[in-house]
This record gives sequence, structure tokens and C-alpha cells, in this order.
Amino acid sequence: MATVYIGLGSNLGDREHFISEAKKRIRDLPETVMLSESKIEETKPVGYTAQPDFLNMVIKIETDLSPHHLLDMLLAIEEELGRTRDIPLGPRTIDCDILLYGEMEIRDNRLTVPHGEIRNRPFVLRQLVEVDADLRDPVTNEYYREVLENG
Ligand code: AMP
Repeated sequence: MATVYIGLGSNLGDREHFISEAKKRIRDLPETVMLSESKIEETKPVGYTAQPDFLNMVIKIETDLSPHHLLDMLLAIEEELGRTRDIPLGPRTIDCDILLYGEMEIRDNRLTVPHGEIRNRPFVLRQLVEVDADLRDPVTNEYYREVLENG
């Protein structure tokens, strides 16, 4: 089983509903167990800023799904929950990102893991550290709490 951290975000419609529905569907994935979760935080949009604020959280799961199989399942959940891709980085009912997949480093045309946004977005770092205070970047081996403290 791999320990996986997933970032959830929503800034369209009933944001709490989409977050909790995504959580439920991830919990119900085959070969997957939900371990813990961060609090939900309201965050300002990054990049394309003329859009509503997001609700974001991080969940921690254990899964036997491969990274790409998990990605397919997360994309299907996004689709089921009405996600459209009209504007890159634009508003979305739900966004599910694989932040970390065990200690794996993946860089191909479909997946970048660890997710590039971990270090760019303090709230992602905060939520990862909230879930696991001693979590480290599998590539650099730094503690995320230190990355967060050092800005
Ligand atoms: P987004 O618009 O943020 O939902 O981006 C979706 C696309 O990002 C997916 O089709 C994936 O192929 C790609 N992607 C690359 N790395 C990741 C990752 N770590 N987690 C989720 N999607 C990823």
C-alpha cells in the first residue's frame, strides 16, 4: 500500500458539498483506505485571480492503485462532479491533485509528483504539515514544516 496525499479544491457552487462528495468518492475507491484529513481552509485564487475564493483541504489515504490509475479515478470523480475546463486555472466545482505518492518521483506527460504546487502554495504546505507534522519532501528530504517556516 502506498501512502498518498491528495489536495482538494472547489470555488464554484456549493463548495462544501463538492469537497465532501469528492472525499466520499475517494474513500469508496477500490483498494483504498482513508487515513486522515486537514481542516478546510478558504484561500484566494492564484494565477487567474478574477474568480471566487476556494475551499481547500488535504486528505491522506492508503491505496494499492497505481499513480496513473488513481489519476484516472480522480479525473472521473472531477467529471462526475461537473468539472469543466473552460479557462486554464479558472473556476472549478472540484479539483483533485495527487500531491505526494509515497516516496515516488514521477515526471511524465500526465503526472508530476510531488505536485509542483506544494512549494508554491503556503496553504498546501500548511495542510500537509497539519496532517503529518514530520512529513518530508521525498526528493530533497527536507521537512515540509521547515520549508513552511523558512518561507
Ligand atoms: P487540472 O486542470 O489542475 O485539474 O489539471 C489536470 C491535469 O493535470 C490532469 O489531466 C493530469 O494529467 C495533470 N497532472 C499532472 N500532475 C498531476 C498531479 N500530481 N495530480 C493531478 N493531476 C496532475
